[in-house]
Amino acid sequence: MERVGIVGAGTMGRGIAYVAITHGAQVMLYDVAPGVLEGAGAQIETWLQEAAAKGKLAEAEAQRARERLRLSAALTELADADVIIEAVPEDMALKQEIFRQLDALCHPGAILASNTSSLSITALGAVTRRPERVAGMHFFNPAPVMRLVEVVRGLATSEETVRALVDLARRWGKTPVVVKDTPGFIVNRVARPFYLEALRLVGEGITDPPTVDRLVRALGFRMGPFELMDLIGLDVNLAVSESVYRAFFEEPRFRPHPLQRQMIQAGRLGRKTGKGWYDYAEQ
Ligand code: NAD
Repeated sequence: MERVGIVGAGTMGRGIAYVAITHGAQVMLYDVAPGVLEGAGAQIETWLQEAAAKGKLAEAEAQRARERLRLSAALTELADADVIIEAVPEDMALKQEIFRQLDALCHPGAILASNTSSLSITALGAVTRRPERVAGMHFFNPAPVMRLVEVVRGLATSEETVRALVDLARRWGKTPVVVKDTPGFIVNRVARPFYLEALRLVGEGITDPPTVDRLVRALGFRMGPFELMDLIGLDVNLAVSESVYRAFFEEPRFRPHPLQRQMIQAGRLGRKTGKGWYDYAEQ
């Protein structure tokens, strides 16, 4: 049985934990904020009950999955994990500090993976004594639903590590793609203009978010850029925008938009705060 440690129990960490426990892995889910950890436990329980009610998961399977989850209030409890997936906010200094701690804590054979959307895997590996065992394992939101996983090969990542994460993603029912360690990898690089052009259209007063979203959906996309920003979290989306912009030496076409910052200043972070580009208070 795989022992998986997950650092950060927010939107992504809890989704990845659900995927892992429903595919046979033993999971230790850790977060610095005890309230978040409790919320994650409750959310995972709801997903398990919904899946069982819909017949997607047999009752006995749901029960086994439930028993595979442990909520950990101390990082040290992740020490015997074989694979760690870090899902803390998109901040290089924070992630490097966690990788340093994990490197000191985990057994030498353990793989340290990051769910980062855009930051350099090479820079995360460089603060450890095992850069060959550091890679990206980038899930998409919502993790239980989205099939794609980007497995990111840093400059020093070994072939063995890449293969282990590709196999793990497949065992968890995902579709892995191996990508180079480049700012935003594939998805967040091609997604930048998707958000930024839409923000410019609205910022210049040409149209409004619902119109852009309707047009984009009419083209066959499942969601428009504003609906997607609300799902992702405007804070998370801005952090990724800034990271890609900086990593490309302030390339103008990747420049974030002031509207993103203004929305965050207003506390409109999207679904998670009940209001973003749309109002979710009624839902
Ligand atoms: P989030 O804010 O929902 O969750 C982050 C969690 O990390 C919080 O619960 C916070 O308490 C916790 N945390 C902060 N510092 C910590 C520490 N030192 N130790 C342990 N936990 C700590 O963020 P998220 O949306 O889950 O994003 C996490 C990562 O996943 C980011 O790198 C983000 O770019 C990436 N990502 C996000 C999405 C998305 O749509 N939200 C999609 C793919 C990847």
